[in-house]
Amino acid sequence: MGIDTASRAHDPAIHAARRDRLRARLDAVDADAALVTKLVNVRYLTGFTGSNGAVLVTRSGAVFCTDFRYDTQAAEEVPDVERMIVRNAAAALVEHAAKDGLRKLAVEEHVVTVEEYRLLASAFQESAASGSLTGLGHAVEDLRRVKDEAEIDLIREACAIGDRALAELTESILIGRTERHIAQELERRMTDHGADGRAFDTIVASGPNSAIPHHQPGERRVGEGEFLKIDFGALYRGYHADMTRTFVVGRAPADWQVEVYDLVFAAQKAGRLALEPGAACADVDAAARAVIEAAGYGEQFGHGLGHGVGLEIHEDPRLGPGLPGTLDDRTPVTVEPGVYLPGRGGVRIEDTLVVRPRPDGGPELLTITTKELLVL
Ligand code: ZN
Ligand code: ZN
Repeated sequence: MGIDTASRAHDPAIHAARRDRLRARLDAVDADAALVTKLVNVRYLTGFTGSNGAVLVTRSGAVFCTDFRYDTQAAEEVPDVERMIVRNAAAALVEHAAKDGLRKLAVEEHVVTVEEYRLLASAFQESAASGSLTGLGHAVEDLRRVKDEAEIDLIREACAIGDRALAELTESILIGRTERHIAQELERRMTDHGADGRAFDTIVASGPNSAIPHHQPGERRVGEGEFLKIDFGALYRGYHADMTRTFVVGRAPADWQVEVYDLVFAAQKAGRLALEPGAACADVDAAARAVIEAAGYGEQFGHGLGHGVGLEIHEDPRLGPGLPGTLDDRTPVTVEPGVYLPGRGGVRIEDTLVVRPRPDGGPELLTITTKELLVL
């Protein structure tokens, strides 16, 4: 795993095919073109990895715009698309669309600010007689739900980096060290194994802090007999990994710790087993939640079961009570139930998996670190 996969993910033909799939959605939003300004969506459609860029996808082609700083980079990363170099990329593409005689432009309303929207709308109206903006909705995010195998390779590698880093960390002495120090060591080890960075702020939570779902690691030192909850992931070539493991430090777990751990373990397994193409997202959540509710801990599991993972750490689909949508083949998601007992401690177990058809073996586990309760 390395150069080959990385270069396949940057194959211009892949990006061209993605733009074709977006093009096929223009009728549904009744637009002549889509103006894509959300950076990860621009990256998905073009391969561009810089910090300022937008792409206009018309029925017959595409125009990419970035600023002077990225001129050379854009020529390399987006070789197959007409390029413009203007600082305000969205405004430049709106003008370009108007000059081309386009009348109805779909924009990502969930991304542009109200101020930007007003500016784009008035610019488009002025330059295209009776031109108007409409909403693209989450069309690109929808396309991104189902990954191609090159994307899955990158997420698999991001997860493998996390597995290796955690395996090293758990071999060192953790008792007496601060949460912050442990988080920094884990991140350094991910870098050593090839990560481009961390997928999100690493969570290391010890003792009572483990009852805080998104605890920020601080100066608290890990004590004997405590839970140690670690939620982290590597970033690799733009793709994210996400895994949580909960350990006990220094001595055999107390009965209450085993009880909570076994419960979360059973719920997490039920959630994993519910993953299959066509399954309703709400049903997958319910499969895991029912286990925790039956044990009387429903109130202590106050968040959703999981989320999609890809170019963003949290993306569609979302797995939670009453949430819409169904799962598709080749969709990476997390399964991460937790039970949190304020003042005492909490357990979360999280894997990243790829939804696959049952006849082919079912969901593919990407985060392979053991889920047995380890004493470190
Ligand atoms: Zn996580
Ligand atoms: Zn997660």
